[in-house]
Amino acid sequence: MQKEKVVIIGSGPAGLAAALYTARADLAPLVITGQQLGGQISITSEVENYPGFPESLTGPELVDLMHKQAEKFGARIKIDTVTEVDFTHGSPFTITTSGGEVYQSQTVIIAAGASARRLGVPGENELIGRGVSYCGTCDGFFFRGKDVVVVGGGDSALEESIFLTKFATQVRIIHRRDEFRAGAILVNRARRNPKISFVWNTVVEEIIGSDRVEGVRVRNVRTGATELLNTDGVFIFIGHHPNSQLFEGQLEMDEHGYLITDEHMQTSVPGVFAAGEIQDPIWRQIATSVGQGAAAGMAAIRWLEAVEDEVAKVEVAG
Ligand code: NAP
Repeated sequence: MQKEKVVIIGSGPAGLAAALYTARADLAPLVITGQQLGGQISITSEVENYPGFPESLTGPELVDLMHKQAEKFGARIKIDTVTEVDFTHGSPFTITTSGGEVYQSQTVIIAAGASARRLGVPGENELIGRGVSYCGTCDGFFFRGKDVVVVGGGDSALEESIFLTKFATQVRIIHRRDEFRAGAILVNRARRNPKISFVWNTVVEEIIGSDRVEGVRVRNVRTGATELLNTDGVFIFIGHHPNSQLFEGQLEMDEHGYLITDEHMQTSVPGVFAAGEIQDPIWRQIATSVGQGAAAGMAAIRWLEAVEDEVAKVEVAG
C-alpha cells in the first residue's frame, strides 16, 4: 500500500489547480486522472473565457499547460481510475484504482467533475462528435451556416441556443413540455431572436445519420404524431449529473448527487475536500472550477498543518 499526503481524484481544472497549490506546498500530490486527463475541457475545441489568454486556446492546450505547471512543482499524474474509496474510519483514507493500486492518503481532494446527461436514444452515441454535441460553446463554431436543433428547456438549453445563433442559420429548440424551465430573462431573449423557433411537447426518439447527423425523428407527446426533422446538428442540454456515485453512503450529497462542502471546501468527512462540478451545480466554468480547486488545495494544506501541530503538542506533552 502506497502512503500519500494528498490524493486528488480527477484531473480537470479543479483537480489540476488543487495539484498546483498542494505541489507548491511540497506535498507531492498524486493526481489520479480518471478516464480522460483534463476532464470535460479536454473535449472543448476553443476556450475564450479563461482569463489570461486573450487569443483563446483549445481545451487540450489549456489542459497541457495546467498539467505541466502542476508537474513542475512536484505533482505526480497517474493515468488510472478510482474504483473504490473508504472514508469510514477517518484519515488516513483508502483509495483503490482499476489499475490495482491501493493508496492510503492523509487527505483526499475530490474533483471528479460532472457528465452531461445523455438522451439514451438510438444514434446518439454513434454520432457524438459527428453532429451530436453537449457543448454549444465548444462546438458551435463548426455549425456556421448550418441548421441545428437543441434539446432541453432549462437555462443551459436557452443560453446555448442563443449562443448557437452566432453560427447557425436556424436553431430549433425541442422541448418535451409547453413551458420552459429556464428563467424569464433567457426565455425572452430567445423569443426575441429571429433565428430561434420552438418545437413544443416533443421528444427526440432517434438521431439519424450514417456518417454525420442528418436529422432527428421526433414524437409529439400529446398527439403521438412522429415526424422527421432534417438538421445538421443536435445539441443536447438536458442537465448534468455529478460523478459522485463512488461516494454514495460515505459523503453527504444533495438530492441531485452534488457533494456538500462547507466554506473551506470540506465535505462531511474531515480531511476530504471537494472542488469543481462535483460540488457546484451553479457556475460550472473553467475559471470557477480553478478557483474552487485552489481553495480546496489550500484547505488541505491547512488541514495537514493543523494535524501536524496536534501531533507535536501530544509529543511535547508526553
Ligand atoms: P435543468 O435546469 O435541469 O434543465 C434540464 C432541461 O432538460 C429541462 O427543461 C428538462 O425538461 C429537460 N430534460 C431533462 N431530461 C430530459 C429528457 N430525457 N428528454 C428531454 N428533455 C429532458 O439543467 P440545465 O439547463 O443544465 O441547468 C442546470 C442548472 O444550471 C440550473 O440550476 C440552471 O438554472 C443553471 N444554469 C444557469 C444558467 C444561467 O443562469 N445563465 C445557465 C446555465 C445553467 P423539464 O423542464 O420538462 O423537466
